[in-house]
Amino acid sequence: MSYDAVLFDNDGVLVEPATVSTLREAATTTFAEFGADPDPDHVDAICHTVTPDDLDRVCTAYDLDLAEFWKVRDGAVSEAQLRELRAGRTTTYDDVDALESFERPLGIVSSNQHATIEFMLDHFDLGRHFETYYGRPPTIEAFHRKKPEPYFLERALADLGVEDALFVGDSESDVLAADNAGLDSAFIRRPHRADYTLSVEPTYEIESLPEILPLLG
Ligand SMILES: [Mg+2]
Repeated sequence: MSYDAVLFDNDGVLVEPATVSTLREAATTTFAEFGADPDPDHVDAICHTVTPDDLDRVCTAYDLDLAEFWKVRDGAVSEAQLRELRAGRTTTYDDVDALESFERPLGIVSSNQHATIEFMLDHFDLGRHFETYYGRPPTIEAFHRKKPEPYFLERALADLGVEDALFVGDSESDVLAADNAGLDSAFIRRPHRADYTLSVEPTYEIESLPEILPLLG
């Protein structure tokens, strides 16, 4: 198999993911903004890979406006992540140097906020490697288009002018998004994924970015 381009998820692939405590703190701040005293399950539900069902369930429980709540939650998460990045507590994986060797168009499709992705690309001087990149605009419309929806993967393919790409991610939603876009996937099992189980089969499983190079054909 040969691929015309490589698309990457960002968090947990190129840059370390936000810690659980950072995300929980942002979630707790969000509920406090609305004067809600949340059940711990509801805090967990809005921490990470939030699904439309999670958001609906939480907003219904406290009678919150969904769009307003999501806006505040997104802002709190973004602020917490920027703080960790600026303090040097969140950084890139050592093997991002391998991006120099890919010799084909590269792109990013992340479910993190677009502005946060832009900050990271600049902060870590990674932007020069990528011809296109998508984070998620902080709106409810964009929330419904995030992975596993293929929407932003398809946008990236169109930007690069290719039909066939390999998508590299560290989550089930990445593997599903690749399937939904008709792309092959490489699941990268970084240390935070040591015990992570997938209910879908990725095309490849790898542990580091250089392992992608021989797969490209
Ligand atoms: Mg990820």
